[in-house]
Amino acid sequence: MRLLAPGDYHTFTADGAPHVYLLPSAAVFRLDGPSAAVLEAVREAPLDADGLLDRLAPRYTRALVQETIDELLSAQALRTVVPPRAPAPVAAPVAAPAPAPPAPAPPRKRIPLTTLVMNVTSKCNLSCKYCYEYGEDRITEPSSKPRFMSEETARQSVDFMFAEAGDSPHVHLTFFGGETLLNFKVLRAALAYAQEKGAASGKTVDASLTTNATLLRDEIIDWMVEQNVGVTVSMDGAREQQDASRIFANGQGSYDVVLPRVRALLARHTRRPIGARVTLTRDNLDVRSIYRHLKEEIGFWEVGFAPVTTSWQRDYAIPDEGFEEMLAGFQSLARDYLDYALAGRHHGFSNVRDTIQEIHKGVAKAYPCGAGFGLLGVATDGEVGLCHRFAGSSTHSLGTVTGGIDHAMREDFLDKHHIDHKTDCRQCWARSLCAGGCYHEAHTRYGDTARSNLHYCEWIRRWSATCLETYATLAARRPDYLRQFDA
Ligand code: SF4
Ligand code: SF4
Repeated sequence: MRLLAPGDYHTFTADGAPHVYLLPSAAVFRLDGPSAAVLEAVREAPLDADGLLDRLAPRYTRALVQETIDELLSAQALRTVVPPRAPAPVAAPVAAPAPAPPAPAPPRKRIPLTTLVMNVTSKCNLSCKYCYEYGEDRITEPSSKPRFMSEETARQSVDFMFAEAGDSPHVHLTFFGGETLLNFKVLRAALAYAQEKGAASGKTVDASLTTNATLLRDEIIDWMVEQNVGVTVSMDGAREQQDASRIFANGQGSYDVVLPRVRALLARHTRRPIGARVTLTRDNLDVRSIYRHLKEEIGFWEVGFAPVTTSWQRDYAIPDEGFEEMLAGFQSLARDYLDYALAGRHHGFSNVRDTIQEIHKGVAKAYPCGAGFGLLGVATDGEVGLCHRFAGSSTHSLGTVTGGIDHAMREDFLDKHHIDHKTDCRQCWARSLCAGGCYHEAHTRYGDTARSNLHYCEWIRRWSATCLETYATLAARRPDYLRQFDA
């Protein structure tokens, strides 16, 4: 006889109704009365089907309960378990059979590269107080690399990208720094070369870059428009917020330099939505006011926030109570996002949008991000790492753009970092959305990329809950809004 037991899911309430988030499939279901009653009945202890039918008989017909059980089993919200047996009498020991030899490992499939992040320079014209380029958290040996990528290395990086892309019809090249535009000449040449190769090989090339905006000028903006380059501006808010950390080497704030350039960018580059990316620190956590300034007063299409990645001893590191404040701000913006979406309007809070998109696509993450998977980073000298934050770290090097990468090493990394191997995350309902968190942050915090980022679990779970509630409410009331995430 088999018993019915709860599957692996998280329950929550949205739009006044009970819902489940199923971990194996990462699907969200609104529970009707019978489904909620069945899951409630097996919550305390597993039950056999007859016992369950009897228990719910006063409220629902047996046929309806049976149909509900079948549906919940097929959705994996219910599972069957074998009841424990009475212990067998102790028998005389017999020789154990020799263990079967392990089955040979199946041949590994080459993972196509879809995004290459090129660190075209490690130099910056700002000296942001929290910058990892200058902190003790930096894992690259600062003096061992050229500060600027040469055009030759940039072309070799593009060759590497196409060689590693396999049959993928699209490749994405993204430029990063330091301040990316300090090496504008090389990145422009790299993109032109990539487009030539794309045209010759039938692949589409998408390009984007991140900049602090201090060096934007009309000629560069025109090039961005012409080449349809996606742009993210690192900016921390209004003057006081920006100038608290984003300063020049002489201590002068950058807001007054950045603002007119950003305005010119937003006015001229209308081919693609332009986003702002905010670094939150202990002293800059008022996400509502930052959002209001960047979205409503300056006019960015979207605004994304990330807490500073640093060791907890730094004075700008966010303390526990700061994470509470940040969460309250995120939840407040998420409520606004929901109101806008229900009214069919655009809201630019990208943190909630990105997570809703993942939920809608039913992504059960095995890894926190694409690093080492479809994404790699290349340092100024052509050394290849897991992502832009690891590019140039000799302890995390996967190879070089000219010599190629060690695919076995990359696959071993992915095996070791798979969510199934993170024992700390095994019981966590948010693992399909979080997957243990950023490897770089784990390295910074614990000295080990494979560690789960346990310092922010509570935060992640509460934020994931907000995103699930937002998603489920939209699914119930504005399913048409979610169609934008189908592609
Ligand atoms: S790091 Fe924490 S929140 Fe993320 S999956 Fe692991 S246990 Fe869950
Ligand atoms: S490892 Fe961290 S920094 Fe690198 S791509 Fe992943 S989330 Fe981003």
